[in-house]
Amino acid sequence: MQKMKRAVPATLLRGDGIGPEIVEASLDVLDALGARFEWDEQDAGVGAFQRTGDPLPHATLESIRKRRLALKGPLATPVGEGFRSVNVRLREEFKLYANLRPAYTYVHGGRFENVDIILVRENTEGYYVGFEHYIPIGDDPRAVAEGTGFNTREGCRRIAEWTFEYAVRQGRKKVTVVHKANILKVLTGLFLDTAMEVAKKYQGRIEVEDKIVDNCAMQLVLNPGQFDVILTTNMFGDILSDEIAGLIGGLGMAPGGNIGKDCAIFEAVHGSAPDIAGQGVANPSAVLLAAAMMLDHVGEQPRATLLRDAIERVVSDDGVRTRDLGGTAGTREYTDAIVRRLRAA
Ligand code: ATP
Repeated sequence: MQKMKRAVPATLLRGDGIGPEIVEASLDVLDALGARFEWDEQDAGVGAFQRTGDPLPHATLESIRKRRLALKGPLATPVGEGFRSVNVRLREEFKLYANLRPAYTYVHGGRFENVDIILVRENTEGYYVGFEHYIPIGDDPRAVAEGTGFNTREGCRRIAEWTFEYAVRQGRKKVTVVHKANILKVLTGLFLDTAMEVAKKYQGRIEVEDKIVDNCAMQLVLNPGQFDVILTTNMFGDILSDEIAGLIGGLGMAPGGNIGKDCAIFEAVHGSAPDIAGQGVANPSAVLLAAAMMLDHVGEQPRATLLRDAIERVVSDDGVRTRDLGGTAGTREYTDAIVRRLRAA
């Protein structure tokens, strides 16, 4: 396959746990695709904390700031009070307000055929702002736990506009706004109202509907085919996107993109999976699909499509599957099967 003419500068974070194994797999696959990135490799996560005393070193932030593009393996956050999630800090630092989580049935013969859902999660507001504390009563310092979230009209409008624009660009038909405005009338009511206001501009082009989050969760397992694009708040998006990953074979198949005005970071949705780290059995698909999203982002859609097709062929036609998908292939064997498919394409 012809190589990309110019190498695109990007930051590479191998991450913790299974991160190094699955990121290595994605480098091999990108190479087979002729995709050229000028990687600046940096450190982050628990490994970085052990090595440098900082889970998110300054050099890493500066590298991403300069390149405005990164591919990352899962980053674990050091245990203990005082450490905020490294992933949340990255989203905040670079104002990555749109979290794009596509789910598609690559593994045929499973519970649901033809799942093709794009979930867009607001990535910087809601309960994730982390305003929480204990209220002491008598001699119990933790008698009451209080947590507050916020949504801003500006933040709601920004994510809704992003989502409708994305839906139009991708030729999607419908956006489902998911909320809990019957109970959290203010917090998620503002989200719903603002999204519906934005939807008016797309009348005739994109159908819009709303669903309460509990009903949405049930509908997803009853009939996922009814969903096209889902737009929701930070916490609901976190939960629903894991549910949706479960419809298509689990977390091993779920990529994510964190996208802002000036910067984008692509990643696997799953965590560092310490239980299987270093064993060579992790499914690298999520980070491979994240790499495909990154190729889309830099205008290399044909290569992204080739990669997605190769994954579908390998898991469904060749029957080469990692353990989490019910197979026996290790990370290496699975990656080699994808590279073979790409070389034959
Ligand atoms: P974190 O707190 O970092 O999110 P976690 O343990 O809560 O970590 P994951 O690391 O995502 O969550 O793992 C959840 C389960 O899914 C684990 O049993 C793990 O082994 C499995 N898992 C996650 N990613 C993969 C993968 N790529 N391949 C195979 N199994 C995976």
